[in-house]
Amino acid sequence: MTPEDLKSLIRTIPDFPKPGILFRDVTTLIGHGTGFASATAMLADHARKAGAQAIAGIEARGFIFGAAVAARLGLPFVPVRKPGKLPVPVLAMDYALEYGTDTLEVDPEAVVEGHIVVLIDDLIATGGTAHAAVKLLRRAGGVVNKGLFVIDLPDLGGADRLRGEDLSVEALME
Ligand code: IMP
Repeated sequence: MTPEDLKSLIRTIPDFPKPGILFRDVTTLIGHGTGFASATAMLADHARKAGAQAIAGIEARGFIFGAAVAARLGLPFVPVRKPGKLPVPVLAMDYALEYGTDTLEVDPEAVVEGHIVVLIDDLIATGGTAHAAVKLLRRAGGVVNKGLFVIDLPDLGGADRLRGEDLSVEALME
């Protein structure tokens, strides 16, 4: 499958979750067997080239792609979780949303000190979510050198923001 084929599998929903937002929905991509396999293979290829020793994914859609890539490469998977889900003491990071703040959490024992960790999520917009995840994974001891996304919304500047944090960024489509 070409990147254009993959793009055609993304569904766009107007006014979700709020009026005026154009939501890019990966449900239709993961619901297409060949499309999901292709997207996972492309992400895995980038992660392998980055020398990944672990794959981290952001809850929830980053788990779908991240776990598939980790299993494909035979690497550990590190879940970056929404607050209150992990049953152990966590590292936590607040980050700004358009209105208010949110929090991500990581089990510090899920990351091996000095291991190269590649971060995966479905989509990067402003980059606030991925930026918080990178900071957490670095605090946990990971060497985070790459962020991989299925979709980049370049007008929102998130990929450039991450590149400013000493990270290379790739997306399968814009
Ligand atoms: P950011 O923090 O502004 O970069 O937003 C990215 C986060 O919000 C990711 O975890 C995405 O899953 C989610 N997100 C934002 N916009 C969309 C969208 O249009 N489709 C799917 N997820 C989105």
